[in-house]
Amino acid sequence: MDIHHADPAKSRLLLHVCCAPCSTASIERLRDNYVITGFFFNPNIFPVSEYERRLGEAQIFFEQIGLPIIVGAYDAKDWAAKTSEFADEPEGGRRCCICMELRLRVAAASARERGFDLIATVLSISPHKDVRMINELGRAAADAAGIGFLELDLKKGGGFQRSVELSRAHHLYRQDYCGCAASLRERDRRRAGEK
Ligand code: SF4
Repeated sequence: MDIHHADPAKSRLLLHVCCAPCSTASIERLRDNYVITGFFFNPNIFPVSEYERRLGEAQIFFEQIGLPIIVGAYDAKDWAAKTSEFADEPEGGRRCCICMELRLRVAAASARERGFDLIATVLSISPHKDVRMINELGRAAADAAGIGFLELDLKKGGGFQRSVELSRAHHLYRQDYCGCAASLRERDRRRAGEK
C-alpha cells in the first residue's frame, strides 16, 4: 500500500510502542491524522519484572489518553535464542537489528490480521536509535505483510525533549536502559563508571 495515496484521516494505524514515555510525544504528533491503536510487543525486555512495569505503565497511559492498546506475546526465551550470538555487541549492532526486525515483523503481521492499513513505531524518538535501520526494517516488514509503513523520525523537531516533558506531566516511569539484558549490563557499567 502506498500511504501517500491514502487519506490519512481515515487510515487505521497500528503503532508499535516500546514503552509509555516514548509513546507520549509520538502520539501527540500522529493523533490528529490517524486512528491509532497501540501494539505493545517487546519480548526483548529483561527481567520479567521490568517487562511488567513497562507494560503496566503503557496500559495506564493509553487508558489516560483514551486509546486502545493490544498486548503481544512475551516470549523472552525465543528472543534470547534469536539474539544470543550477538549478546556482547554494543547497542546499535546486529543484536539490535534482529531485535527491531522481530518486533516490526510481528507488528506488521498482527496489523494485517486485524485489518489495519499501516504500521509505525515509536522507536525513532530515541536519540540512541538508528532511524535509517528502523525505517528499512519497518518497510521490509510492512511490504512482506502487504500493508503500509509510516516512515518517521520522531526525535526531529524536539520530539525526544517533548517526550521527557510529557512523561513528567503524566508521572510516568522512565527507564534508563533500552530493555535487554545486555543493555542492562551496559547501564550498570555506566553507573559504576560514574561513581
Ligand atoms: S539494546 Fe535495545 S534494541 Fe538493542 S537488542 Fe537490546 S533491547 Fe533490543
